[in-house]
Amino acid sequence: MYKHKRILFISLFIISVSISYWYFHNQIFFLLQNISPTVEGEKLLSVSFLDVGQGDSIYIKTPDQTDILIDGGPDNKVLSELGETMDFWDHQIDIMILTHPHADHIVGLIEVLKRYEVQSVYYTGVIYPSREYVIWLSLIEEQDIPLFVVTKEFELRLADKTELDFLYPNRDITHERFEEVNNSSIVTKLIYDQTSFLFTGDAEKEVEAELIERDINLQATVLKLGHHGSNSSSSEAFLQAVNPKLAIIQVGTNNSFGHPHLITLKRLERIGMPILRNDFEGTIKLESDGINIYRNYSN
Ligand SMILES: [Zn+2]
Repeated sequence: MYKHKRILFISLFIISVSISYWYFHNQIFFLLQNISPTVEGEKLLSVSFLDVGQGDSIYIKTPDQTDILIDGGPDNKVLSELGETMDFWDHQIDIMILTHPHADHIVGLIEVLKRYEVQSVYYTGVIYPSREYVIWLSLIEEQDIPLFVVTKEFELRLADKTELDFLYPNRDITHERFEEVNNSSIVTKLIYDQTSFLFTGDAEKEVEAELIERDINLQATVLKLGHHGSNSSSSEAFLQAVNPKLAIIQVGTNNSFGHPHLITLKRLERIGMPILRNDFEGTIKLESDGINIYRNYSN
């Protein structure tokens, strides 16, 4: 009798673990089911959060095959990541965006400028004294690449139902010195039909508050959390305003900054926000058919 009870207990335990795993798994991936999108490959928007260690790098391919790279991470790892993610014959980046000149965002872009044909570059022109910043700017000048300074809110039309909205900075910060250069980060929202992605660079709570104040539509399906999940970003009000279905944290394994911050993780947990992080998942590739977002595990 005792043995039967034990078997029953063990069975119940296994069943409940399986159910919680199933529930948890579906909670996280309810939008990201590993099933084929409803449209053909060429109509998909893909967004890859590249595994570049402790830094940001996001590669986007629009349905009309425009290649966009937001930041390049802290070293040349971005090259092997792009090699795996981009079509092997494609050596062209149409739009390069530097959110802000910190090394964990700019160094990889220097490597990309050396190896890829970059067609246009967007940055803020903020003052920041670093060798990498000077090298990056001189490479752009040497190669005669059109360099655009973001000084206002505007939209870049990319394809049918696809646009990249530049939300911040909405003023000219060229030649401005920031006490916290994270707060000079370019914030963009990528929209493809009914799906959207918000990329915030390392923008902190001050910028988040300003964006909320400006009464723009911040709602996005996927949010790349600001400043690698640090507690200086992702305020409750901002998470509410964006109201994403999924948050992404670009962060390196065992990084010395303690990113993501435990308080941020708790905040996300409290509101039941599913997260995916590069230190656990490697490169995270999401695809949108304009209605739903799917996770592509093949990278
Ligand atoms: Zn950073």
